[in-house]
Amino acid sequence: MRVPYITIDLEKIEQNARTIVELCRSHNIEVTGVTKGSGGNPDVARAMLRGGVTSIGESHLENIWRLKDADIDTTFMLLTVAPLSEVTEVIESVDVSLNSEIQVLKALSDVALQQAKVHNVVVMVDLGDLREGVWPDQLMDFVEEAAALPGINLKGIGTNLSCLGGVIPTTDNMNQLASYAVKIEKKFNIELEWVSGCNSSALKMIAAGEMPKRINHARIGEAILLGRETTHREVWPGTFQDAFQLHAEVVELKEKPSQPVGEQAEAAFGGKPDFEDVGTIDRAILNIGREDVDIQGLTPLDPTLKILGGSSDYVIVDVTAAKGGIEVGAELVFSLNYAALVAAMTSHYVEKCPLPNKNGETS
Ligand SMILES: *Cc1c(COP(=O)(O)O)cnc(C)c1O
Repeated sequence: MRVPYITIDLEKIEQNARTIVELCRSHNIEVTGVTKGSGGNPDVARAMLRGGVTSIGESHLENIWRLKDADIDTTFMLLTVAPLSEVTEVIESVDVSLNSEIQVLKALSDVALQQAKVHNVVVMVDLGDLREGVWPDQLMDFVEEAAALPGINLKGIGTNLSCLGGVIPTTDNMNQLASYAVKIEKKFNIELEWVSGCNSSALKMIAAGEMPKRINHARIGEAILLGRETTHREVWPGTFQDAFQLHAEVVELKEKPSQPVGEQAEAAFGGKPDFEDVGTIDRAILNIGREDVDIQGLTPLDPTLKILGGSSDYVIVDVTAAKGGIEVGAELVFSLNYAALVAAMTSHYVEKCPLPNKNGETS
């Protein structure tokens, strides 16, 4: 195993998925497991499916292709709105896509017809987070046009919250989405299979029994991967937070001052660094950098270690208070938040190391 590497405990991911799926199932909510935080890792997708998710959601077609190449046989959902330039690929590879542009839907419908297919679509509604989605006052007109397209099956409507704007799900906005579903079904005499209300930010609401009954589908990534709900990043009961752990190697270890010596200007990634003067410290340089990971999202497993900063190829850690055992060649281990996980799992320079389960299998 080359260092740096990230260990993936597949049993923990499976267990996390099972906990979330059972919670959702008890409130009649079906779960799509979202693998994008793992860079579309096939072992992770399989672990989620073993844990009971009924489909896999991905933000990149490339990841869906990788999962299919790994013989994962499930329903694939594209979570980013389909780009006009890739409608053919979407029809060929994706079972359900999220959409908010009628021009794209028309193109999808045309290609679907050419391929003698019907493409499933979830129309996204923007309830205020200001990312993707049709603004509510235009929803009825949009759905009317979409429902008339012969190559399109309107599988449902959905919304995405807690992303760009940090707007959280509430009974108000979830009731709003549910009411749109009812209105659409009545007005166009169709049945919406999915009302896809939520992601990991809705777990508290679901557990409290506050989710409107009509919301019956969730797309869950972070809570399965990292065991946290996402409104306040609270640990979710019955899940593990350490399914992923990052290992990096100490390539230099020296006693040096805590403050730079000499006239200071901008650092490698801009900004003028500001270091507290605590005298001479033991500084470890790790062979991982800002091109591989979001340093702010790393937490050393040894709480006495302190991350001082990093450049593109290095992270520098104050190891003065470490209990010992740190030397050149040693590995330091970190837990990761979502931003750090996404970066590390998509970095070519970080090896991915699935841990075998009790039977010695990795997938
Ligand atoms: C990433 C994503 C999700 C998953 O969100 P989590 O907070 O990781 O559960 C759900 N829906 C869409 C549209 C997404 O892009």
